[in-house]
Order: sequence, then C-alpha cells, then structure tokens
Amino acid sequence: MFDHPDYDDHEQVVFARDAAAGLTAIIAVHNTNLGPGLGGCRIWNYCTEAEAVADALRLSRGMTYKAALAGLALGGGKSVILADRSEKTPAMMRAMGRAVDRLAGRYIVAEDVGATVQDIDLMAQETQHVSGRSGRSGDPSPWTAEGVYLSMQAAAQIRWGTDLNGRTVTVKGLGSVGASLCEKLHAAGAVLKVADIRDDAVRRVCDKTGAEAVAAKAAHAQPAEVFAPCALGAGLNPSTIDDIQAEIICGAANNQLATPSDGYLLLGRSILYAPDYLVNAGGVISVAREPLGLTESDAQAKVKEIPETLRRVLKMAAQQGICPGQAADRLAESKFKTAA
Ligand code: NAD
Repeated sequence: MFDHPDYDDHEQVVFARDAAAGLTAIIAVHNTNLGPGLGGCRIWNYCTEAEAVADALRLSRGMTYKAALAGLALGGGKSVILADRSEKTPAMMRAMGRAVDRLAGRYIVAEDVGATVQDIDLMAQETQHVSGRSGRSGDPSPWTAEGVYLSMQAAAQIRWGTDLNGRTVTVKGLGSVGASLCEKLHAAGAVLKVADIRDDAVRRVCDKTGAEAVAAKAAHAQPAEVFAPCALGAGLNPSTIDDIQAEIICGAANNQLATPSDGYLLLGRSILYAPDYLVNAGGVISVAREPLGLTESDAQAKVKEIPETLRRVLKMAAQQGICPGQAADRLAESKFKTAA
C-alpha cells in the first residue's frame, strides 16, 4: 500500500466489512490539517478491488486540494462501496453509516455517483458525520454551475478584457451542471454550441437557449472561443488537444486532463486552462454548509471568491512559468501542508 502509485501520505485508509449487511467498503482520509475530510461515497461495481483502492486514494486526495483552494476549513476524504447500485439495501447503507461513525468525525460522508439522498438518510441513522440529508443542503449542481460561470467570465476578462457577450462557447455535457451553465451563458449574451450523448438533453437546452447542437465526439474541435467540458472523464489528452480551437477551457467536469503534463500541451498552444477542481468547487462549498454551519450567504460569498482564486492561480502560473494546474496544486499545498 505504501508504494501504491496513488498513495500520497494518506492519513488513514480503512477497509470496512459487514458480512451480514453485505457491505464491502474502503474509506480513505487523505489529509485533515484544515478540518475533517469531506467527500462523497461512490457506490460502484468495480471490476477489481485494486480499482476501488485506487479510486478511493485518488478521489480523497483530490478533495483535500479542492477544499483547500475553496478556502474551506475541511480536509479531503472519500469512500467507495464495492457493489452495484442494484445491490444496495437499507442494511448496507446503515452498516456504511456505522463504518463512518467509527472514524469519529475525521471523515464526513456525502453523495457521489451511485448514492442518493435516501442512502445518506439511512447512513445518518447511524452517524452524525454526514452531509446532504434530505431537506438540508440539496442539489449542489446550481452552485457548481455558478462557480464555473463566474470563472469563465473572469477568464474572458483576463484573455480579452471583455465579458462573454457575443462570444461563442461550446458546452459538452448537458446534465445538471451543463444545462444550468447554458442558461447563465445565454442570459449573458454568449452564443452557444452544445453536445450530449442524450438527444433529449440536447433538445431541452436548444429549445431554452437557441443553442446549436453539435456532435459530442467533435465538441472540443468546434470553432468557438471557449470550450466548457461538463461531461465525464479525461477529455483533454494529446489526441484531442491538437484539435481544440478555443482560446479558453473552463468547465465543470472533474479530471479533465488525462495527465498533469497535458496542462503543458495546452500552455504550449496558448490555451487558457482554468483548473477543473478550482472552478467546480461551488458544489463542495454548498455541501460544506452543513458541517461548517455556513449560511446561504456565507456560501455564496465563497463561490464569488472562486474567480478571484482563478486570477491568482493564473498570475502565479505566468510568474513561475508553469501551467495553471500545477500552480493550483502549489497554492492548495501552501494552504493545507502548513496548516497542521
Ligand atoms: P450529470 O450526470 O447530470 O451530467 C453529465 C452529462 O454528460 C449527461 O447529460 C451525460 O449524458 C453527458 N455525457 C456523458 N458522456 C458524454 C460524452 N462522451 N459526450 C457528451 N456528453 C456526455 O453530471 P453533472 O452533475 O452535471 O456533472 C457534470 C460533471 O461535472 C461531472 O464530471 C461531475 O463529476 C462534475 N462535477 C459536478 C458537480 C455537481 O455539483 N454536480 C460538482 C463538481 C464536479
């Protein structure tokens, strides 16, 4: 474990099992210097246990960096349950709640892929260390969309000295965040091109905003001034970066760069890349309201700080001759590594 490629001095990794309840789970707490590790519980039918371990290690580390840059008094944690979502039972969720409770508040569990508000409610019967119960902070997506939108406006100011009015933006992925982002961009006078693998999602956004539908596979290569990846996975890699025509990339998707070095390929093409985990932090800020006791307006103020942090990161990157992703990592590390 200690020489695992994704192990990065994680404070604690727990393998949790409750045979009677059918629970097999891993909880990874990466760093709690700034506060308890907050992070979702992913319920996924992993092909191998090794994949689940890697996911828990990688995702919990990412949460430390995201919370630190967002200025939250929280660390990074994440949990994975090794099961198909069709195998979920109330007993399994309650057993997960007990596993979380044994960490005595060092890890706060929230929703992630495969988990629902109802699952969090079941975990909450066994532990108070949860966020995102029904009737509480609710859907984080509009908060995420707002942070991405404000960041894109800031990037436009930095790049062109103007706002997004009249600029062409391609949005790839029209789910909860992408669709909400499109409405904001439309209201701001941007010209939209949109793509999704679900035709109904494309139709809904086109009807609302007058966007032009484009093919999902070629979305990154559209003639446009901004590209907003809001689907899943690593879309920016050596084979796509060459085809990008946009001058700015700013979107909600996690892990947009296939590898950190792809940030340098973008830099080499003079494309302004707004680091994903910085600009998509609106969601974690929303979820943090419960454990940190933040009011709605406290959280809104934190979302408004996201474009300021982006300016700072881009300035650091330019001064130090590094790509924005690396500058974001350095800034995050300067916050959590010294805060023990
Ligand atoms: P979602 O599941 O609601 O939407 C994702 C959309 O992407 C779906 O409409 C799906 O059909 C589409 N899609 C998937 N593969 C595609 C492809 N190859 N080409 C085009 N479209 C494709 O998810 P979401 O909540 O809107 O999140 C979008 C992204 O933002 C994800 O990467 C997520 O991890 C990230 N994110 C979301 C939040 C949040 O608050 N929801 C917070 C931070 C980061």
